[in-house]
Amino acid sequence: MAITLAITNQKGGVGKTTTAVNLSAGLAAKGLRVLLVDLDPQANATMGCGIDKLHVPLTVYHLLLETAELTDIRKKADAGFDVIPANRDLAGAEVEMVSLLAREQRLKGALEDIQDQYDLILLDCPPALNLLTLNGLVAADAVLIPMQCEYYALEGLSDLVNTIRMVKKHLNNRIDILGLLRTMVDARSTLSQQVSEQLQKHFGDKVFETVIPRNVRLAEAPSHGIPGVLYDKSSRGAQAYAAFTDELISRCQLSLPETADSAA
Ligand code: ADP
Ligand code: MG
Repeated sequence: MAITLAITNQKGGVGKTTTAVNLSAGLAAKGLRVLLVDLDPQANATMGCGIDKLHVPLTVYHLLLETAELTDIRKKADAGFDVIPANRDLAGAEVEMVSLLAREQRLKGALEDIQDQYDLILLDCPPALNLLTLNGLVAADAVLIPMQCEYYALEGLSDLVNTIRMVKKHLNNRIDILGLLRTMVDARSTLSQQVSEQLQKHFGDKVFETVIPRNVRLAEAPSHGIPGVLYDKSSRGAQAYAAFTDELISRCQLSLPETADSAA
C-alpha cells in the first residue's frame, strides 16, 4: 500500500508545487517508488518535471471523468518518478464533475488499483478549497501543508484545518495532518521568527524541523524542467529539500530499499 499525501494550502505561491516536485525527486533518488499527481490546471508541477503541458493529450482531467485509463495517462519524469500530468482542461473538470455520482471520490477510486506499485503518491493541489482539492483530501492518508511565515498565514490555516476536520468527519476518516513545512523563509526576518513561534505553539511537533530558505536556485529550476534538488545540488534550497525528504521519510516510517540507499 502506498502512502498518499495531499500537498495543500488554499493560498497560492506558498511553495506547494516546489515542495511536490522536489520531494518527488528526493524520494525517487532514495530508491522509493513515487507517483506525483498534478491537480492544478496551471500545471506547474507537470512543467517543473520537464513534461510539456501543451503536449499531453491525456491528463488527470480524463482520470477524474473516467474517460481514459491511468496507465495511458501516466508519464515518466527524467528525475525517476511517475507523473499524472495536468493542463488547462482541468479547469473545466470542476463544473463537469458537479453532476457526477461520488464526485469527490473520483481520484481515490482511480488510485485504488495502483496502490501496490508505489511507496508514495503525492498530490499537488490547486490554490483553492475546491472540488479538485476535495478529491485530493478524500484520496489522501495525510496532508502536508507548505506555508510562508507571514502575518496572514495563520488566519488562512484555520480554514484549511476546518476543511480537513469536515473531510475527516464525513468523507475520509483516515486523514490527518502529517505536518507543516515552513517555506521561503528569510532567517533574518523577525516576522518569520514570530510566526514560526506561533505555529509551534499551535501545532507543536507537527511543524517540520527543516526550514526551506528563500533560494533563487529553487525558483530558477522550473524553467529548465528540472527539480531544484537536481538542478543545483549544492544550493541551500536543494540541501534543505534533501533534509526535508529525510525528515519526511522518518516521519512516515518509510523503509528504504537497501541498494539505492547506499548508492544515494
Ligand atoms: P504554489 O504551488 O503554492 O502556488 P510554488 O511552489 O509554485 O507555490 O511557488 C511559488 C513561486 O515561488 C514559484 O515561482 C517558485 O519557483 C518560487 N519558490 C518556491 N519556493 C521557493 C524558495 N524556497 N525560494 C525561492 N523561490 C521559491
Ligand atoms: Mg502550485
